[in-house]
Amino acid sequence: MRLCPSGHKTSYKTCMLNFTVGPVMSDDVVLKVGGRSAPYFRTPEFSEIMKENESLILKYMYAPKNSRCVFLTTSGTGAMESCVMNILNDKDKVLVVNGGSFGQRFVEMCELHHRSMTEIKCEFGHQIKAEQLEQFSGQGYTAFLVNMDETSSGTLYDMMLISAFCKKEGIMLIVDAISAFIADELNMEELHASAVITGSQKALALHPGIAVIALAPDALKRIEENPEVCMYLSLKLALKNGERGQTPFTPAVNTLLELHARLKNIETDGGIEAERKRVAVIAEDFRKKISDLPFTPATESPSNCVTSLRPVHGGAKEIIRIMKDEYNIWICPNGGALADEVFRVGHIGNITLEDNQTLINAFEDMQKRNLL
Ligand SMILES: *Cc1c(COP(=O)(O)O)cnc(C)c1O
Repeated sequence: MRLCPSGHKTSYKTCMLNFTVGPVMSDDVVLKVGGRSAPYFRTPEFSEIMKENESLILKYMYAPKNSRCVFLTTSGTGAMESCVMNILNDKDKVLVVNGGSFGQRFVEMCELHHRSMTEIKCEFGHQIKAEQLEQFSGQGYTAFLVNMDETSSGTLYDMMLISAFCKKEGIMLIVDAISAFIADELNMEELHASAVITGSQKALALHPGIAVIALAPDALKRIEENPEVCMYLSLKLALKNGERGQTPFTPAVNTLLELHARLKNIETDGGIEAERKRVAVIAEDFRKKISDLPFTPATESPSNCVTSLRPVHGGAKEIIRIMKDEYNIWICPNGGALADEVFRVGHIGNITLEDNQTLINAFEDMQKRNLL
């Protein structure tokens, strides 16, 4: 059984097993770093840490030569919007894969920022098909936005298919890998992606507050040439300050220090592939263990990050509530129309095989009580 890391008492229960998709449980090294007072950051020492954060992220994303990486103090959505504002412009013709709430978010951002945009609709939990892409061939599209893992349904899109289409059409590819980074295979150079986004509270398993964007040379050129349209989320400013390992405004200093500790640990624990393997093992173990429980998969293409499930007798909301109130375990609800039909179990963060078993035991106990 896990113990609370400190004797600190709060009225909000934070000492629970957390199987959501973010924020997730951090390891002790990260918690120790994050628990300190925020140090002053306009120093050469902090700049050095930031430069190292940049180079390790680029390495782990397999970014092409001369790429850069920026750290924005915002949740992942801020980085998505920053890409729509700073990399795209009003001459672009944009394709957006919309198969869930995160795809929908890109759609709404494009509308809000007056980008000419066409949706490629995917049904909940369905993989994207070649025919869906081909109908947009040769029509002058210039940019493609996709949530690599549409976390709302736990669907991992066929990135090789999308990448091949974008390469063939000469379309710039922007990848929201907020939940996919570390969980699933991601090679920015191979995908020919111009920008890849991630966030601190998903598989990086840090506190929330930092979003990361890796930018290939073509995206950097775009940012330089586009007119400035915002200040706080400006990538021009972020890049300029990043040259000296700094940020234009006060960042979430502790989360950036946590990031540094985490990236260095990944390095010493066998690198990014070993870390990805750890997530895959947890996901696989969970999926094996639920085979006798009354759930059916809610996606045909599961990511390693999360398993989305339909309880065969419905009542997802109540299952989530009972897990929280009676078993001290958080599993993840679904928003929107499927809120009572689907729940999700995350595999990212500091989860062990033993934790998986604790969750399975709770499900089995609920089954005995006729609650599933
Ligand atoms: C979590 C997530 C986001 C961003 O969520 P924030 O709450 O803004 O951090 C965006 N896209 C995907 C695919 C995600 O999983």
